[in-house]
Order: sequence, then C-alpha cells, then structure tokens
Amino acid sequence: MNPKIWLSSPHMGETEQRYVQEAFATNWIAPLGPHVDGFEKDLGTYCGVDHAAALSSGTAALHLALILVGVKAGDEVLCQSMTFSASANPIVYQGAVPVFVDSERQTWNLDPEALQAAIEDRMARRGSKPAAVIAVHLYGMPAQMDRIQQICQQYEIPLIEDAAEALGSRYKNQACGSLADLSILSFNGNKIITTSGGGALLSNHEDWIRQARFLATQARDAAPHYQHSQIGYNYRMSNVLAGIGRGQMEVLDARVRFRRAHYTYYREQLGSLPGIGWQEEAPDSFSNRWLTTLTLNPALSGGITREDLRLALERDNIESRPLWKPMHLQPVFAEAPFYGAGVAEELFDQGLCLPSGSNLTQGDLERVVRIIQSLF
Ligand SMILES: *Cc1c(COP(=O)(O)O)cnc(C)c1O
Repeated sequence: MNPKIWLSSPHMGETEQRYVQEAFATNWIAPLGPHVDGFEKDLGTYCGVDHAAALSSGTAALHLALILVGVKAGDEVLCQSMTFSASANPIVYQGAVPVFVDSERQTWNLDPEALQAAIEDRMARRGSKPAAVIAVHLYGMPAQMDRIQQICQQYEIPLIEDAAEALGSRYKNQACGSLADLSILSFNGNKIITTSGGGALLSNHEDWIRQARFLATQARDAAPHYQHSQIGYNYRMSNVLAGIGRGQMEVLDARVRFRRAHYTYYREQLGSLPGIGWQEEAPDSFSNRWLTTLTLNPALSGGITREDLRLALERDNIESRPLWKPMHLQPVFAEAPFYGAGVAEELFDQGLCLPSGSNLTQGDLERVVRIIQSLF
C-alpha cells in the first residue's frame, strides 16, 4: 500500500512549540493571557483590521457576528448556499431562518444578481428585509465583494464575511478578513494555518469586538461576584492554542506560496485533459489556493466523472473530496428557500478538491497527477 496522501493536513513551523513552551513555563495555561493578545494583534495587522477577538472556532465567531448585528428569532439571513455547513448553522442557533443564494461561475461564490433578486423577493413577501448577508470565499477564492458590498449598502443590510478558508487571500489589494462589517476566520486542523481548533472575529468597530469578548467569556458583569445580565457563551481561545497561532502566523505567507505552487503544477499537468475546468482568479484577486479544485464535465471527458477520479485516487490511498454539497440540497435545510439557477448544484456534481496541503512533496503531487492522467 502506498503511503497516505491527505487532502490538507496540519503543517507546523519551527516556532509553534517555543510559544507553547513559553505558556507552560509561565503557567499561562488558563484561558486568555499574553499569547491571545499577541495573536489578536498579529491577525489585525496582517488583515489590516483594527480589532480582532481570538475564539474557540470559526463557527463561534459566526454565531457572535450574527448576535452583534442583531439577528433575532424569526429573522431571515441570506447565506451563500455553496459552503460548509458551519456558515449556515449559527443562523439556526439564533432561531433565525436561513435563505440560500446560488453561486456565480467565475469565483463559485455568492452571485450578486441572485442576491439582489433574493432581497427583493423576501421584502415583497414579508414586508421586512433580511437581517444579514453571509458571503464566503470558497477554497480561498475572493467573492465579488464590491458588488456584494454595494447591494448590502443599498438595502442597509449588515454584511458578514466568512473568510474561514481565505486567510492570506486578497481582493483589490485588501486582505480577505477585512472586507465587511464583521469578518470571521477559522484555524481548524485542515485550514491554511491551524491552532488545532480555533477562530477569530475581526472588525474596525471596537465596540463590537469588545462586546464579542464579553459575550465569549460568559457575559460577566463588572462585579466581584459572578453576575450576569445577559446570556453568555464560552467561546474564547485558550492561551496555549493562541501560542500555536502566533507560530503559524510567521509561516503563513510561505504556506500560501506552497499552495499556489501546487495549483500551478496541477494546472500545468492536467489543464489540457478534455472537460477539466478550474476556479479562476479575477485580475484583481489573489487566492491563497487553500485547496486546488477542478471540475470535470463528463460530456467533454468521454464520460469520465469526478467520482471516477475520486475512486481511482482512493484506490491508491489518496484522499480527495467532492466540492461542498450546497446547503439548499442538505436534508437538514430541505425547507429553506433558495434563489438561483443551478450553478452550485452543477459545481457539486462535477467538482473535486485535490490534495493541497503545504506539506505535500513533489513526489506526492506526481502520484496524484499520474493517476488522474491514467484515466484519460
Ligand atoms: C471551516 C469553516 C468554517 C468553520 O470553522 P470552524 O473553525 O471549523 O468552526 C466556517 N465556514 C467555512 C466556509 C469553513 O470552511
């Protein structure tokens, strides 16, 4: 059996262990501490955002973002359908109702036309506008944020940026993570950098980030005893994990270079095969290429499907995965309204994520490429 090739596995640098050891040496094991402060500063500086709160996960960050913009039970929230379920679940945590919107074909992200149609139709049906919009940068590819921001401003709807997959990506020379009223990041184990588990909420509004830190530490009022006037959460990142994050920030740009080089190699080697398509970078966009993804159109490939590719890779002990299954096709969201024309569904049917970790070797990439080429 050939050694396993993973889709995207953690990749530690040289200094993470030193930061963790420092936490042990100073007994800053208890939640919060200097590494949390340092990691928050690093994130804000990197993304060009004034304030950041390090949290237990990206999901927690999205939940707090919805609370901060005032999403309440019964409200509707518009969300990109083609995404990981964590983009949408926090809507339901708030007792609100998700309304899903299709993708456009260039970036595979929120389609501005469908977004506008959805807002108009929900307002006509309900007499009130959606309480928030959630846009995602899938696989690191920036969404068409100018158009999306402009639509949200026109209707005065708060915009939340799910940049969980896009740390290190840029749009018109601004970092993903800085492109909305509130932005979230994830440091889960498979992301471009990881703290084993973690997330962050970023904003230029200091009040929001202060309130996020308050809610994330059980909403404790200023009193010597434990006193609470609001329902709180246990959503902060621990000082030990923030130490890993500080080490990972030192290698982030190198990780982006590796992942982009993997994409370039795959495209050079596989680009001429019939029926293969790619997620295209617009001229003013820079993707971290968190995952290299391709589509395979069986009408052009002689009947070869993305599932044929996936199974052939699996037989060689190589992990690959279909693209995110759109939320409006998930059993749990079967009742949710959807606006679009089947782009997300087609991408799901034809799309595959290839092994993309920054720790893959040239030999690993060659194995993946050989197997795919052998099918044609
Ligand atoms: C990973 C991810 C999240 C959730 O992040 P966690 O840290 O795993 O909670 C949210 N949205 C998207 C698009 C993701 O890929």
